[in-house]
Amino acid sequence: MISLYIVVIRRRVLVPILLGLTWVAVFGLVLAGLLPERRVIVIDPGHGGIDGGTSAGDLLEKDVNLRMGHILRRVLEAHQYQVVMTRTDDSDVSHFVPEGGSRYRRDLKGRVRLVGRVRPISLISIHVNWHKDRWRRGAIVYYQDGETDSRLLAQAIQKELNALQPVQRQVRAADFYVLRNTDAPAVLVEIGFISNPEDRKLMLDEAYLTKQAEAIRAGLEVFLSQLMPAPQSSRGLR
Ligand SMILES: [Zn+2]
Repeated sequence: MISLYIVVIRRRVLVPILLGLTWVAVFGLVLAGLLPERRVIVIDPGHGGIDGGTSAGDLLEKDVNLRMGHILRRVLEAHQYQVVMTRTDDSDVSHFVPEGGSRYRRDLKGRVRLVGRVRPISLISIHVNWHKDRWRRGAIVYYQDGETDSRLLAQAIQKELNALQPVQRQVRAADFYVLRNTDAPAVLVEIGFISNPEDRKLMLDEAYLTKQAEAIRAGLEVFLSQLMPAPQSSRGLR
């Protein structure tokens, strides 16, 4: 008798719940079709806080990275991307990972953890290069060795950046913690050499950084259109 009673109660409760869930599911599907595609990009300005990165005189990499990060964010948001930044001020990201390893290690882990939570369509890490040969210059895009999508993204961005600069650079395969531990296509853009006087001047020039940000955005668009090619009918006969 008791079990029968429970069944009656359950059916009374279940029917409206099931009807409600069905309605939510249908409404959700309709809404998903109407909403624009979710295009979240994580921008990761390298270093921060006590970690200045590389430097030249009193110009610190961390400050250039952050400024460029904000400029890239503005450019991407103007093109309907949602942007999440690993840092928005002069702090590192080690507080995401309170325990385990050095501050440096926890900082990198924190960046990776944030990317894992956000699940972006792409990660763009911003850094500045340094070389003892002061004549070396130009932006270079790095990708994790062996990751095909990341290589394609890097090549697309490098091509656009090369159109801005006198030296034509090639993408480089590398092994970076943040790139290696990110599932989404991920690149690390070294926007120039802080050790080169011309590059150093450009990384203080907001107009030039904005051009570089536009180039990164253009490369990203090319890459995304490769991932989602146009319908078969518009490509013509083979
Ligand atoms: Zn760096």
